[in-house]
Amino acid sequence: MKISFLGGISEIGGNKILLDHDRFRILLDFGKSFKTESKFFVRPYLAPFSISDLIKLGIVPNFAGTYKWQPGEPVIDGVLVSHAHLDHYGYVPLLKPEIPVFMGETSKIIILARQDVQTSSWERKIEKESINTFRTGSQLEIGPFQVLPIHVDHSIPGAYAFLIEAGGKRVVYTGDFRFHGQVSHLSKDFMEKAGDFQPDLLIVEGTRVAPESDPEEAMIRLLEQHNIYMSSTPPPLRVKKEAANEREVLEEMKAVSETAENSLILIEANTTDIDRLRTVWLLSRELGRQLVIGETQALILNRLSKEDPNIKNLPKIGDFLLYLSRRRKKKSWEEVKEERRRPAIKELISQVEDHCGPEAVVWGENRKKLAREPNSFIVLTPNSPNTLMGILPEDGRKFPLTFILSRSEPFNEELAMSFDRLLNWLAYFGLKKYYRIHVSGHARPEDLRTVIEEIKPKTIVPIHTSYPELFDEYVPPSFRDGLRLISIKETLEL
Ligand SMILES: [Zn+2]
Ligand SMILES: [Zn+2]
Repeated sequence: MKISFLGGISEIGGNKILLDHDRFRILLDFGKSFKTESKFFVRPYLAPFSISDLIKLGIVPNFAGTYKWQPGEPVIDGVLVSHAHLDHYGYVPLLKPEIPVFMGETSKIIILARQDVQTSSWERKIEKESINTFRTGSQLEIGPFQVLPIHVDHSIPGAYAFLIEAGGKRVVYTGDFRFHGQVSHLSKDFMEKAGDFQPDLLIVEGTRVAPESDPEEAMIRLLEQHNIYMSSTPPPLRVKKEAANEREVLEEMKAVSETAENSLILIEANTTDIDRLRTVWLLSRELGRQLVIGETQALILNRLSKEDPNIKNLPKIGDFLLYLSRRRKKKSWEEVKEERRRPAIKELISQVEDHCGPEAVVWGENRKKLAREPNSFIVLTPNSPNTLMGILPEDGRKFPLTFILSRSEPFNEELAMSFDRLLNWLAYFGLKKYYRIHVSGHARPEDLRTVIEEIKPKTIVPIHTSYPELFDEYVPPSFRDGLRLISIKETLEL
């Protein structure tokens, strides 16, 4: 078996691993590389015009006949998607729909919900018909490849690792995983099964392997310095609250909220971080505040509640207010509902309205109530500046605000750029400090040591890390000979 590493090398995300056996080729993830894209593009002003721009610049591999609208036969026979984060599946929409895509059922629900909200474009849409789903216990046969997907814990539901066998060689790919989340027993179960599998090669994520114990810290410090340089006033100071797991996140958020009596509590997290959503919902109940979430978040939540029986204890319609994205012209309620072009959003609005009345939808004039009675609400958003802009009264009068940054993913370049602006918005609201409360979606470096000891692979390739050269610190001495630091586009042969 030949394994080529076409992405995710010396960077966090953008995983693209090509397995080749007996002239049959499958991809393990086909993720968007924010780092490489941001070298050339800044959306929407400077966006790639077509797939060929991405191929020309080497952002996606130069496969013949494989991308949409290319003539000829595809050279790829299938794609395995580990989970529904863009840095793992973001380039799958570029592939011809006849190439089968395999993913967990939960990933499909999340990806289709997201597609139903976004405006469709050549770089966003995966055809439903291309998607084949699996569950824990499924055994896939893709050409000569026997694939066993195993559910692991990560900051998005439905993340999988893969055990793969072809031609008598065995490969284990962790995808993204952690051992301290709500379902960490799944990651432990994976570790055991992967050990029994006796792999020749372990491809393991190393997001948190870094010179400092918290690489994000270093990045945030740098951005703060930049902010001081640009605006000559210091940005609000970050107060970091340590949390080892989701329960501690809730405890810390509660402690912060107790000092925030009169202010609006604004929490920024990823829309797909369902564990965090549940935590914020529990917080809102304890504080007796109403939870406000946006359209994308509400749609993903609604679909998961209906279609995924394994995800339990989720807020339902009636447990939150639905915040609608803004429209330029003032309209009546009936017009507002009618003009939403996405059928999924229309349906969602009418479900919320039927269940709890129109006051459960935050739009137009009633948006103002958030600024008028800030202490009655908790707003959860993936884009704080945009939300603050929507709530800010027309006279620009500020309201008391408490801000908690609660993303579980590491800072990528895209986030870093928007973080600069976020600090300006918080400073505009007169904030002297904000809170950082989160628990990472990725395994601690010490856990990686245990993973290697338990799985006992012959060869180890670190992926999804900015610092592969530091990885040996976490490889037990007896396995260090097997550690391979791979260059981008390099091929290993087993
Ligand atoms: Zn990732
Ligand atoms: Zn991920």
